[in-house]
Amino acid sequence: MMTVSLLIGALAAYWVYNDARGRGHELSSALLWAGGTMFALIIFLPLYLLLGRKPSLKPHRSQEIIDIEATPVEETIKCPMCSMRVKEEFKLCPYCGFTLKPACSSCGKEMNREWRACPYCQTPAEDK
Ligand SMILES: [Zn+2]
Ligand SMILES: [Zn+2]
Repeated sequence: MMTVSLLIGALAAYWVYNDARGRGHELSSALLWAGGTMFALIIFLPLYLLLGRKPSLKPHRSQEIIDIEATPVEETIKCPMCSMRVKEEFKLCPYCGFTLKPACSSCGKEMNREWRACPYCQTPAEDK
């Protein structure tokens, strides 16, 4: 019986740790929650669900978006669809999924949205 509860505690702790890290908790804070959950599941798990899972000041962001914020403004463009700042080299807006740079359907070379045909192989651009 003891083994089973330990196993459940470990699993819950593992989940809490991953969840906390995913929500932008510091490593120490995530470990604290996970450790608490492991040893006092009944107390810490409800506590974590109530307090720990509140969205932190920074909303949950993907690595890609953090990457955008670290990019100098001059290397970014505005998405014509949602006007969020995205990296110039992005082929697709991570916010709204707008295709920023379509690729040529024939030769796969990067195309400008304004181009009506591929300048490399003369294939007409697909209508989007
Ligand atoms: Zn967009
Ligand atoms: Zn082409």
